[in-house]
Amino acid sequence: MDYPQIILHKGKDFSLQRKHPWVFSGAIAKKDAGLQDGELVEVFNFKKEYLATGYYAGGSIAVRIISFTQCLIDEEFWYEKIHKAWLYRSHLGILSEHTNVCRMFFGEGDGVPGLILDYYNGHVVFQSHSGGVYLQRENIALAIKRVLGPLLKSIYDKSAETLSKHYSEKTVNGFLVGNEEEIIVKENHHLFKVDFIRGQKTGFFIDQRDNRKLLAEYCKNKIVLNSFCYTGGFSVYAAYAGATIVESVDASQSAIDLCEQNIDLNQLNNHTSFVDDTFEFLKDKQNAYDVIVLDPPAFAKSRDNKHHAVIGYKRLNTMAMKLIKPNGIIFTFSCSGVIDKMLFYNTITSAALEAGRNIKILHYLYQPADHPVTPNFPEGEYLKGMVLWVE
Ligand code: SAH
Repeated sequence: MDYPQIILHKGKDFSLQRKHPWVFSGAIAKKDAGLQDGELVEVFNFKKEYLATGYYAGGSIAVRIISFTQCLIDEEFWYEKIHKAWLYRSHLGILSEHTNVCRMFFGEGDGVPGLILDYYNGHVVFQSHSGGVYLQRENIALAIKRVLGPLLKSIYDKSAETLSKHYSEKTVNGFLVGNEEEIIVKENHHLFKVDFIRGQKTGFFIDQRDNRKLLAEYCKNKIVLNSFCYTGGFSVYAAYAGATIVESVDASQSAIDLCEQNIDLNQLNNHTSFVDDTFEFLKDKQNAYDVIVLDPPAFAKSRDNKHHAVIGYKRLNTMAMKLIKPNGIIFTFSCSGVIDKMLFYNTITSAALEAGRNIKILHYLYQPADHPVTPNFPEGEYLKGMVLWVE
């Protein structure tokens, strides 16, 4: 194909042979002059044998791979990728009469680094995390139209905050198709209003669907605290499942406003919410709760602050373990990719030691199937959680 070429050093093609989708800058022996951030490229080994097609990114990860077969990156290419991801979710029955929201495309897990598509009952939020994907948005939008057909109601491009500076300065979020702003989705028959324009990320934390369902099993006649509640995903499930009272806490007023609306939408009333810092809120809550959900934002966004993140998770979990009623249940999560499951486990078990409480581990939790993790890209696993019985 007629794309600029990148030649790797001898012995630096092993990771591509294993289908890992990143090429580090140190692996590159030769590249065409004047390559721009986001430009499509073909990668070859030192013998000039084709390895993969991707887009140039210019940083320490210099190329992100989108195909391991030599092909044209056109509308048909995007259709095949997005259609395959859609079929996978259809086979698994993720969407049903009870659930009309899912992650439709999950970056490397679906074969394209940097491409996120979230499906909200026919409204698609498109988020590109790299210039390479952003430059392809017209063909991606055409492909989404073809895949969804009459199901499609709108496509909203929300890439301004996830692109590098070079692109984000020129980018304005906006609709590529349609223009409906007020949407309500259904997840396991619970209703949620989603503000994908002003909300965090693409508007809703779709990745907690299965874990919310599990929480419901533990809530009947219990006093439940949902901390870092955002728009009340866990709160709605807990209140619906028959909790005596559910309290929701978040530092963001707009998140709490939506949380309240979601409680009303589901005609629930056993609920109170608080705009507060969770660490402050918990200070005087000794013996107040039977069940506590701890789902903080990623405390570590890179390896550099991994250590501080561990201290943060340990402090939070120690506080919750100290104050929960005897024989209480804690749902605790980390969505930091750099905190792996072993490190999370060690952090939680050392929090129990510090709190002086005996725990039993009831479940290990992960991200759901619409956020797929593949063996060639284990880095894709970011959400991990544990359900604890606290004696
Ligand atoms: N559990 C939620 C998602 C949590 S996202 C769901 O299922 O939808 C993390 C949330 O933590 C965000 O809404 C953010 O506003 C909130 N947050 C961040 N720091 C906080 C703090 N110190 N105290 C309380 N909330 C905080």
